[in-house]
Amino acid sequence: CGQCVAHCPTGALTFRNDIQKVYKAMEEGKYIIGMMAPAVRASIQEELGLENDVVTAGRIVNFLKSIGFNKVFDVAFAADLVAYEEAHEFKERLEKGEKLPQFTSCCPGWVKFAEHNYPEFLENLSSVKSPQQALGSIIKRYYAKEIGIDPEDIYLVSIMPCTAKKFEAEREELSGEVDVVITTKELSQIIRSSGFNLKDIPPVPFDRPYGLSSQSGLSFGKTGGVFSSVLNVLEDELEVESVKTEELEKGIRITTVKTKNGKSITGVVVFGLGNTRKVIDKIKEGNLKVDIVEVMACDFGCIGGGGQPYPNDTRVRTKRSKILSEVVGIDVLISPTENYHMLSLYEKYLKEPLSHIAHEVLHTTYKNRKRINNGDIEILPLPIEKEK
Ligand code: SF4
Repeated sequence: CGQCVAHCPTGALTFRNDIQKVYKAMEEGKYIIGMMAPAVRASIQEELGLENDVVTAGRIVNFLKSIGFNKVFDVAFAADLVAYEEAHEFKERLEKGEKLPQFTSCCPGWVKFAEHNYPEFLENLSSVKSPQQALGSIIKRYYAKEIGIDPEDIYLVSIMPCTAKKFEAEREELSGEVDVVITTKELSQIIRSSGFNLKDIPPVPFDRPYGLSSQSGLSFGKTGGVFSSVLNVLEDELEVESVKTEELEKGIRITTVKTKNGKSITGVVVFGLGNTRKVIDKIKEGNLKVDIVEVMACDFGCIGGGGQPYPNDTRVRTKRSKILSEVVGIDVLISPTENYHMLSLYEKYLKEPLSHIAHEVLHTTYKNRKRINNGDIEILPLPIEKEK
């Protein structure tokens, strides 16, 4: 809507179509790797006039292979990886009692909003990259070597429900990891112009090793997914006794986890940047004591992203959320800790969560972009003193 276009922190709602870049890379004979976000499989059928279908992802994989993609991976795999790394980061912060509450960082709309409006909280953001960038980084730095292809010859196409992800891929801290981001709507244009009917294409699995995901990883596509995945990773270590969740208002949920050793962890799951302001203001005023905050800029999370088909209202988003739950339901792995391909990536390359190499490959930094008086954006170094 006009309001969103005016306020989008990444400027990503000024639409840009990047389909031609994909065709050009194919013509140039690049090794094309696609990766698809969870929320895309819950909505693309709307744009193509098809019925809901829990194997849409597999049909898209087959379609992409048939038009020339060499590999197609699942961003839900990277969601498992991010949840695993982020859970260990959270655990370390809890033990040290610093940089709390920890804010999630996989939504570039929220990250840029924080950089402009709450730079004093940037150190509280998880430094783990988003699943898109984490997988891009792994593919270009590690997988390329494994398959004996020069990373320069790989063209990585990220398929996202999100226009802000185009901005994220171009951030200077992350550039070169992902070559192009196309949205659900752009993918549906590619499918339509190919003449294929997605419904007639049999589903095939994502390529291994980065095609395996848990139910947690898939749940990144909707509000609450990151928070519950982090909890899933920590569940054994925390020895959870009880979990209580209440909705403070639409878009703000608070969960208290009590552990067997008498400790408790409080998490807030929030969507919408207006709601996020309310939560942060409460934290700053000392009226909300919380350990971890999941923020998604779009209503209901990525299923409501700016790159999704129209209409994109509450009714449609609720339906997409249900479809994603059904897709999740057919998967056998529950927690990221069960994703054996992800664990083997640690064994062979990343060593352990928060290791030196994991920091180099999976973590990033943020910028203070607070506006100064004349409206310009001054990029200032971190850290920033917090307001007392
Ligand atoms: Fe993009 Fe919206 Fe998801 Fe954030 S919540 S990553 S802006 S689709």
